[in-house]
Amino acid sequence: MGYRITVLGSGTIIPSARRKSSALIFETEKEIILFDCGPSVPEAIVQNNFLIKGLNRIFITHFHPDHTLGLGHLFAAVKNTPAFPEDKKIYLYGPKGIKKFMREWYNLYPSIQRASRFFEVGELDINDRIECSDLFVTVGMAEHGMGNALMYRVEYRDSAFVFTGDTAYTEPIVSFAKNVNILVAECSFPDDSPMAGHMTPSEVGLLASECGAEKLLLVHMYPLQKEKDMEESIRSRFGGEVIIGADGMRLEG
Ligand SMILES: [Zn+2]
Ligand SMILES: [Zn+2]
Repeated sequence: MGYRITVLGSGTIIPSARRKSSALIFETEKEIILFDCGPSVPEAIVQNNFLIKGLNRIFITHFHPDHTLGLGHLFAAVKNTPAFPEDKKIYLYGPKGIKKFMREWYNLYPSIQRASRFFEVGELDINDRIECSDLFVTVGMAEHGMGNALMYRVEYRDSAFVFTGDTAYTEPIVSFAKNVNILVAECSFPDDSPMAGHMTPSEVGLLASECGAEKLLLVHMYPLQKEKDMEESIRSRFGGEVIIGADGMRLEG
């Protein structure tokens, strides 16, 4: 079997009937990995027929609320799930500071700390390479105005997948995402109203083309994003397959 990506959310912090905050599940025979955990992600996990106790690992890109607000909910859900398997361990990885970040959640909601025995929290550095059962995850640096924002590359058998998290276009991302099978890229704002620390369609198109991605999956689109123009702008720069992310979408790689 190859791998499968399920888009849990393709949006941002702005509540939207169509797009929950950006998160996805990467699945192989032996691993079910959640990337980011913004608001509504715990619901999206079950809506897409996964179980929280089925998760093996969670990778957080950075501490902005649209990528982390669901963590408190997730811990509360685990704590309140009767008979959550005692031997279950979910690895929760994130940038430096994630241990302190989780302690802040426990300060807010002391009871959820009881769920912490089911989680192993690990802090990651740029270039770390984590060996998981049937794949590797490498850590890259995102440029998001906060010093410790990360992106992730998964190597599984002959294919590779990159999740950019939130980032501006930078040269190092091109080599980090070299020759990926699927590039999942944020595409926050339109070309005519760019925002620091994020990418516009022309930048995403350039990135996908320069790194030689086979397929480009777009997520983290603000309501302001003009989706028709976005697609045109990207297609004029990138010859591979362009997929506009939608909640619940599944892709095989
Ligand atoms: Zn952000
Ligand atoms: Zn974001």
